[in-house]
Amino acid sequence: MTQATMTAACPECDAPVELTRHPLNGQIANCTQCSAELEVTNTAPITFELAPEVEEDWGE
Ligand SMILES: [Zn+2]
Repeated sequence: MTQATMTAACPECDAPVELTRHPLNGQIANCTQCSAELEVTNTAPITFELAPEVEEDWGE
């Protein structure tokens, strides 16, 4: 059996965040509940950490 999607809990609001197929370390997902940017830090089991906020327009 192949799982098409899988979910892991958002560390910010605990909502299930859906991932397609097998996530990779460092993959970024967005929580649909709180819009947090989440980085996959572990894939077995899937663990999310809040991604550092990177502004597009720093410097220059
Ligand atoms: Zn969330």
